[in-house]
Amino acid sequence: MDNKTVRDAIQIHGTNPQFLIEKILRARIYECKYWKEHCFGLTESSIIEKAYALNSIGGQYGIQKPTDFICLVLKLLQLQPREEIVIKYITGLDETDNNKYLRALGAFYLRLVGKPATIYECLEPLLNDGRKLRKLGSSGYSLIHMDEFIDELLREERVCDVVLPRLVKRYVLEDSGELDPRISTLEELEMDLEKEQKENEDEDDSDRGRSRVEVHEPTKVIKLNAKKLTISKATVTVKDVVHEATSIESEPSEVASFTFAQEIPKGSATLYIEYEGEHNDRMTGFYRSQYKDAGGNAKHMLVTQFEATSARQAFPCWDEPSAKATFSVVLVVPFELTALSNMEAKEMTAVDPSVKTVYFEKTPVMSTYLVAFAVGDFEYIETTTTKLDQPIVCRVYTLPGLVEQGRFALEITPKILEYFTEIFGIPYPLTKLDHIAVPDFDAGAMENWGLITYRTVALLYDENTSAASDKEQVAYTVAHELAHQWFGNLVTMEWWDHLWLNEGFATWVGTLAVDHLFPGWDTWSNFVISEYQQGLSLDSLRSSHPIEVPVADPHEIHQIFDAISYSKGASVIRMLSNWLTVDVFLAGIRRYLKEHEYKNATTDDLWRALSEESKIDVQEFMNTWTRVIGIPLLDVTESDGLVTVEQHRFLSTNDVKPEEDETLWWIPLGVFPKPASIADRNQTLKTRQLSFDAPTQNSDDFYLLNKDFTGVFRTNYPPSAIRRLGKAILDGNSGLGVSERAGLLADQASLATSGHSSVERLLDLIQYYKNEKTFVVWDLLISKLDNITQLFSVNSRIHDAILNFQRKLVDSLVRELGWDFPKDEDFLTSRLRGAIISCAGRSGHEETVKEAKRRFALFMQDGADQDQALHPSTRKTTFEIALSYGGTKEFEQILEFYRRTPKQDQQCMCLLALGYGVHGEEMIQRLFDFSLSEEVRSQDFMYVLSGLSLNIQARKAAWEWIKRNWTLLVDRYTGNMGMLGFCVKIPVNKMANMEVLKDLEEFFADKDTKEFERDLEQAKEGLRIRSKWVARDGSALESWLLEQGY
Ligand SMILES: [Zn+2]
Repeated sequence: MDNKTVRDAIQIHGTNPQFLIEKILRARIYECKYWKEHCFGLTESSIIEKAYALNSIGGQYGIQKPTDFICLVLKLLQLQPREEIVIKYITGLDETDNNKYLRALGAFYLRLVGKPATIYECLEPLLNDGRKLRKLGSSGYSLIHMDEFIDELLREERVCDVVLPRLVKRYVLEDSGELDPRISTLEELEMDLEKEQKENEDEDDSDRGRSRVEVHEPTKVIKLNAKKLTISKATVTVKDVVHEATSIESEPSEVASFTFAQEIPKGSATLYIEYEGEHNDRMTGFYRSQYKDAGGNAKHMLVTQFEATSARQAFPCWDEPSAKATFSVVLVVPFELTALSNMEAKEMTAVDPSVKTVYFEKTPVMSTYLVAFAVGDFEYIETTTTKLDQPIVCRVYTLPGLVEQGRFALEITPKILEYFTEIFGIPYPLTKLDHIAVPDFDAGAMENWGLITYRTVALLYDENTSAASDKEQVAYTVAHELAHQWFGNLVTMEWWDHLWLNEGFATWVGTLAVDHLFPGWDTWSNFVISEYQQGLSLDSLRSSHPIEVPVADPHEIHQIFDAISYSKGASVIRMLSNWLTVDVFLAGIRRYLKEHEYKNATTDDLWRALSEESKIDVQEFMNTWTRVIGIPLLDVTESDGLVTVEQHRFLSTNDVKPEEDETLWWIPLGVFPKPASIADRNQTLKTRQLSFDAPTQNSDDFYLLNKDFTGVFRTNYPPSAIRRLGKAILDGNSGLGVSERAGLLADQASLATSGHSSVERLLDLIQYYKNEKTFVVWDLLISKLDNITQLFSVNSRIHDAILNFQRKLVDSLVRELGWDFPKDEDFLTSRLRGAIISCAGRSGHEETVKEAKRRFALFMQDGADQDQALHPSTRKTTFEIALSYGGTKEFEQILEFYRRTPKQDQQCMCLLALGYGVHGEEMIQRLFDFSLSEEVRSQDFMYVLSGLSLNIQARKAAWEWIKRNWTLLVDRYTGNMGMLGFCVKIPVNKMANMEVLKDLEEFFADKDTKEFERDLEQAKEGLRIRSKWVARDGSALESWLLEQGY
C-alpha cells in the first residue's frame, strides 16, 4: 500500500478516525497476497512501539492511554501478541495513570498464558469498561498525524513474527438446555461464505453448512423446519454412539424429517446436520442485496430477514416464536468485509489472507425469527448512551459513502433507549445496538435483537435533501423497532395469533417516544389521521379480521402484518391506556415484562398484568376490541337538550345484518363538554344506548364525542350537530383541538363513503375549515379531497369543478405560505407548506403550477444549486406538477436525476412522481418497462404503483399491465410480506368501477391466491363500496358544485 492509497482512504472516509485506521490497516493486510511469506510486514512489537511512541508525543490523537491505542491496533490487525511483548509494555507503563487498563491487560496476559485466546477476547474487559477504545471516535484527531503514522508503519522492515490465527469455519448455535423436550435446538452450524467474495458468479453462489443440534426426544423420527435447504446428512450422537439417519425427507409445509434405524433414547443427544442453502435475491431468509460501489461496479451484501418463518431457510431449526434458545453465531467471511450479528463479536481469527472467522457472543434465550446476520463492506458511526448504568454502544451501519446520513437516527437512539429503560423498568438487555441500512428490503424495518435492519429510506436522512416527512418517519421507525427490543424480543408472543400484541404495542409506544422526543411535532394528532384512520378503515370492511386471529401456515401469517395488527392494535392500546391512564398502563406493562422476560406470553397475560396493576377488569373491557371483528358506529340523536347515542357495528357497505350486529362494545364516549349526568370518569358506554344532557339549544353551543379521538369508533351526528360543530371550527373555538377537527372530518368522510351521510354534506362541512392553518388537519383534508377527485371525475365537467373547488379552498393559504422555507421555521409549518403546495399544484392552481415549472427547470439546469432551487419538502410535488403539465423532456429529466442520485429516498421520490405524472401512451409504456427493469429495485416497485394509482390517466393501463405481468410478479414476490397483496390492492384502490371488480374476479378465478387472499377480498370489497358511492352521490355532487358556482 502506498501513501496515495492512504490519502484516498482519508478522502473517502473523512473524519471518523477509528474507521479510518481500520480501513487503512485492513487494506494493508489485504495487500499481502502471500500471507505466509509476507505476513503483515511488521512485527507486533514494532507496532506496539510505534503506537506507544505516537501517544507519548501528546494528546493530539484524542487518546490519553497508550494501552487504548495499542489494543486498538492489535485488534484491528487481529494479532495474538506473544506474552513477552505484552509483559514488556505492561511493566513499561506508568501504573498510577493506567491502573484500570493495566488490570485489564493483566487479565489479558493471564489468559494468554493459561490457554490460547485471541486479542479480542482478552480485551473484553477494556471494551466493556467505559468503552475507552471508542474514544478514538471523538474529536481532536489530526489526519495529518495519522498520515505520518501510517508512513512510519510503512517504512518498517518486513519480518514475519506473528502467530497465525487458528482455522475455524463454523458458526455455532447452541441450546439453552432449558427447553421443552419436544424442542431440539441447533447447537452448531458451519457456513462457508467464501464465494460471496467473487462477484457475478451467480451459478455457484451457495453456502455450505452443517449443524449440530441438542435433542431430548425418545423417538426414531426427528422433524424440524427446513425450507429450500438441501440436507445431505443427519446424525444423532448419544453418549458417543453415532446414529446416522437412514432417510432424510422433505415434507410439505417446510418440514424435514430424519428417520433413524434405532430409537434415540431419552436424554441428552447431539443432532448433526450437513446441508446446503442458497443466498437468494428475494429479500427473505439469508439473502443478497445488490448495490453499486463508487466506481459503478455491482456488489453484494448479505443480510437476513427471518420474520416470520424464514430462519428455516438459513438453517434447520424449530422455527416457532416459543421455541426459544440461545445462539452463538460464528461467521466465516471474506477478510475485507464486516460481519455483524445480534451480539458483539468476541473473537476474530484469520483463516487465510482472504478469509476470516468471526465469533459472536452467545445471545440470551430468544426466538429464531429474531436471529440476524449481515455481511458486507460497511461503514459505521457510533455513540454511547450516557444515562444508563451499563452504557450501550449504538451504531449505524451503511454501505460506503452513506454513513453520515445515519447521523439523525444515531442521535436519537440513545435518547430512546434511555426513555424506554425508564418506562419499561428493565435495562436494554444486550450490550450493543446496531442499526443497518439495507438497499433491498421487503418491509420498513425488522427488529432483530441488537441488529435492526432497515429499508434505506427508513433509516437514513439527509437534512439538505430529504423531506421533513422523512425525518418523522425515521424517528418513528427507529422508536418502533427499539420498542420491540423489549416488547417482542425480551417478551415474545406465544404464537402468531398474538402478533398484534407486538406490533400494536410497538406502534403505540413508538409514537409515545417520538412525542416525548419531539413535543413540537404534534405526533398524537398525526396518529389520529394516520394509524387510527387506517385501522378503522380496514376494520369497516366485512373482509377484515379480528385483531386476535388464528393463523396456521406461513401464507396466513404473512397476511396479518396489516393495518389491523399494527394500526387498529395501536389504536385500541391507546384507548386502553387512556382509559386506565398512561401511568397505570405503563406500570402494568412493567409488571408484564418482568413476569415474562425471556419467555413467551399471550394477550391474556397482558390483560392479567394490567388488571392486577389497575384493579380493574381489563379483559372485559378489551375482549370485544381484540376478539371481535369490526368497530362500532355511534348514532347520535337530539331531543330537547338530551342527546342519545346508540351503538351498532359499522360497515362501509352500510348493510349490517342483525347477526353481525350483536356485539356490545365497551366504549369510552369522551363527550365534551363532559355531561353532568355521566358520573363515570371514562364515560364508558356498555349498553346499546345511553342518553345524556348536552348543549343543543343555541347556535353557538356544540358538543363533541370522542375527545382527542382516543376512542375506536365513528360518530354519526345529526345535521344540526354538525352545523354547530362546523361553526365552532370556523370561529376557531379552542374546545376543538387539532385531533378533534381532523377526526371529525375523517368520520364524516367515512360516513359519506358508506352512505350514512353524503358527499354534499361532507363538502358542506369542509367549507367550515377555510380558516384552518394546521398541517395535520390539512393533510387529512387534502387526502379526502383527493379521494373525491379520484373517484368522482367521471367526466371533465365534474373533474374541473372539483379542482376549482380545491383551488379556491387553498388559494389564500398557498399565497400566504409561499415557496420559501425560512431557516429555523417550526417543523409543522414546513410540512404545511409542502402539503398546501402539493394540493394547489395537483388542482391546477395557476401560480403554483407556474412556479413549480420554473423551479423544476432551475433544479434541472446544469450545475444548479439544487438544494437552493427546490426545498426537499416540495421536491416530489414539483416533479409531479412538472411532469403532469410537461412532456417527454421532463420525463427524461426525472429519469436522469433518478439515475444520478446516490440517495434512495430521492429515487423513491422520483418513482412516486413518475407514477403520478406520467401521461400519453408512449410515456406510460416507457414507465412500465422501466419499472420492471433492473434499474428499479424490486422493493421499490411499490412506489411506482402508488404513484400510478393516483394517476387518473394511467391507472387503468397500470392495472392491465399488472395483469399482463402477473406471472413475473408472482415469481418475484412470493414469500415476501405483503408485496403481492400490494400489487393487487393498490392499482385499483382509487377506482370506482364495477367492471374493474368483475375483471378482478375473473382474472383471479383460476389463480392460486393463498398468498394474498385477504388483500384480494379487501380490494374487491373496496371496489364495491366506492362504485356504489359514486353511483349514489355522483349527480348530487355535480348539482352541488354547480349551485356553489364551481
Ligand atoms: Zn414492528
